[in-house]
Amino acid sequence: MLNYNSFKELTLKGRYVKNSHIIPLAKQHASIAEITKIGSSVQKKPIYSYVFGTGKIKILVWSQMHGNESTTTKALFDFFNRLHHRDEVVFKLLSECTFCVIPILNPDGAEKYTRVNANNIDLNRDAQQLSQPESKVLLNTYKSFKPDYCFNLHGQRTIFSAGYSANSSVLSFLSPAHDQQRSITRTRKVAMEVIVTINNALKDVLPDQISRYDDGFNINCVGDSFQSMNTPTILFEAGHFPGDYKREKTRMFIYDALMTSFLCIANDEVKGDKYQSYFNLPENQKLFFDIIIRNVVSNDGELVDVAIQYEETLKNEELLFVPRIAKVGSLEEYFGHKEIDGGQNPILINNTGKIANSLTIINEISINGVDFVDKIAVS
Ligand SMILES: [Zn+2]
Repeated sequence: MLNYNSFKELTLKGRYVKNSHIIPLAKQHASIAEITKIGSSVQKKPIYSYVFGTGKIKILVWSQMHGNESTTTKALFDFFNRLHHRDEVVFKLLSECTFCVIPILNPDGAEKYTRVNANNIDLNRDAQQLSQPESKVLLNTYKSFKPDYCFNLHGQRTIFSAGYSANSSVLSFLSPAHDQQRSITRTRKVAMEVIVTINNALKDVLPDQISRYDDGFNINCVGDSFQSMNTPTILFEAGHFPGDYKREKTRMFIYDALMTSFLCIANDEVKGDKYQSYFNLPENQKLFFDIIIRNVVSNDGELVDVAIQYEETLKNEELLFVPRIAKVGSLEEYFGHKEIDGGQNPILINNTGKIANSLTIINEISINGVDFVDKIAVS
């Protein structure tokens, strides 16, 4: 088996990935892909598709519909590189399937590192209204390509746990509903079965760290909308692996998950009758903060826990993880990706012991007079 590092796309790294990072990569794939500008964003940035393969099963994949969710884009370019190694696996994929991949659907959001597009619209709530050029590009591609499967690739925040557990949700998936009743139709079963296959392949390397999103129906979401048009649609969410704020480990797991799903489709293994264990996956819960400092004493003598969440802020082309207070109180039911025991000592945040339960940016922090700023930084 080929070593992942031998085809990992090294020019893409970290969390900030935008058009100017991927455009130079087109020429290295021109020999194996048809690369087309399929439209433009609000700010007239190009949106590209890469088409690979000649097979009859059509797979439509898009990433960075939310501009700041770049992990899956990195994994896609790893996949593109993998396709240059013309072994049996690649031969199977490209002879059974045709892939149409949109690496960055929301290039304006990617540039500014925002979820929304340049008009402040969440494209994943615009599937019916189609008010944005990016939404139209995706729907037009869907209509002309006529996919048998859709892969809707996203990234999730660090707050998610795999069920009610102290395990971070590293990967989560969803077979979206396609009606209010959340009926388990054949289309949904097929998508569920692909997710089951991924879980079976990855559960040993990610024990209890793979989960599923809740399936409340919202026709304005693109996945629900395509599913309701009877195309099995699989939502991927690249999540947080402990310590991996750059999402380089998760990127590798996403690559594995993509490859597993493409292969089971190419091998014609997905029939929609082995979906049941999808429901055994834990549902995502929001039990995590980036940091919890436990047992510290505020100005008014109260013993509290302080939860800190990083805000990802783009400054001079660099992504900063700015610590903010997220919650103060008794936080026994929550977990921190990092936990610090304050030993019932007094805490000072920005030189005040009055800890506002707000989004205060933490510039200075000390516990019992000892500076903790370095300890709360992303390492
Ligand atoms: Zn998203």
